[in-house]
Amino acid sequence: MSIHVSKAMGSLRRVVLSCDVVGCPVQLEPEAAERWRSDLDARSWAREHAPGWSYDPVGQTDYCPTHAQSAIGPATDAVPPQPTASARDQSGNPLNRDAYATQLRARLTDGSRPTEDSQVLTFAEAEVVARLLEELAGVYRGESLGALAHDLATRLDRHIVG
Ligand SMILES: [Zn+2]
Repeated sequence: MSIHVSKAMGSLRRVVLSCDVVGCPVQLEPEAAERWRSDLDARSWAREHAPGWSYDPVGQTDYCPTHAQSAIGPATDAVPPQPTASARDQSGNPLNRDAYATQLRARLTDGSRPTEDSQVLTFAEAEVVARLLEELAGVYRGESLGALAHDLATRLDRHIVG
């Protein structure tokens, strides 16, 4: 139980929030709620008046501002990491897929390199590459990396048909 509602006589309901991370001593007593509030109401009132704190309604747990970031709950809008499967940075770490897609798109419009007319792939190879790109687009559907793969597959297809 992380919340203590004082039942003591008085004009206010005092609520003490305590962090549920094991070993964390942080507690907070927000502005007291009016006495007429129910325990439940007083608890949510206290949570609303605890800036930086996060509450996980599933686990019924509270987190102090320091631990709020590691908490998984609707109060935090942390984006789950999206590491690349094979692409790595210079230190050997996976890249963020969105950042990688942006990087690749930028490379597409890089006009510094002279274009050559020579055919890099046979039509059959280009078609297989397009299918592989579509497969990649299916894996990362809804992400910018998937959208990039789909765009390029479409471009290749147009080339093959034309
Ligand atoms: Zn804490």
